[in-house]
Amino acid sequence: MKHIEHIFFDLDHTLWDFDANSKETLKELFVMNELQNEIKHDSIFVKTYKEINAKYWDRYNHGKVSKEELRLGRFRDTFVKLNIVKNESFIEKMAEDYLRICPTKPNLIEGSIEILDFLKDRYALHIITNGFIDPTERKISSSGIGKYFETITSSEEVGVNKPHPPVFLKSMEKANAKPLESAMIGDNLKADIIGAINTQMTPVLFREGKVRSNPKYYHVQGLLELKSLFEK
Ligand SMILES: [Mg+2]
Repeated sequence: MKHIEHIFFDLDHTLWDFDANSKETLKELFVMNELQNEIKHDSIFVKTYKEINAKYWDRYNHGKVSKEELRLGRFRDTFVKLNIVKNESFIEKMAEDYLRICPTKPNLIEGSIEILDFLKDRYALHIITNGFIDPTERKISSSGIGKYFETITSSEEVGVNKPHPPVFLKSMEKANAKPLESAMIGDNLKADIIGAINTQMTPVLFREGKVRSNPKYYHVQGLLELKSLFEK
């Protein structure tokens, strides 16, 4: 893709291994709070939280719950579902600990460093994430990928989430990049790919397994497949 000068990466599930990092954190919280006395196995806690968290993010993305309701509700509802009575200060502490610990986890999606090393001499690299500013910065520094990126844009600083165009427009403005010379790589069809299409960026869906081919976007099943796509 000769016309591309700037590559924008999504962060969670695209470079930063959200699932692995979140799982590690939840297991740590399980031990810290001696939940083994109340829950048979940490995998039950992790699985229950994961399902409830996904529902909360969906509601948050549709504007149905606030950031604060998301932060606390996912833990409160996890314990309710598991029939364990916990008071609000326990929930508050756990929600705080989770947000403090999780972004310090360093796990990256397989191939991240290799592909960033490959791309960094050929393109200007950037991040566009639907996360909050603080944890985003911590995730990037704890996983050691900060040096690869010229700009980082969190949806929180724009006030709306991907796929809303202002997030992409703000990010390109910071990068001094034009849409037609910009590619967007992400794992989320709606947030990353539709968003990129609507702002005339070149979209690349990163998702393991096959997807129905669509002329509107590229698809890679692993990060290293980006090498042939972005060879210069
Ligand atoms: Mg993502």
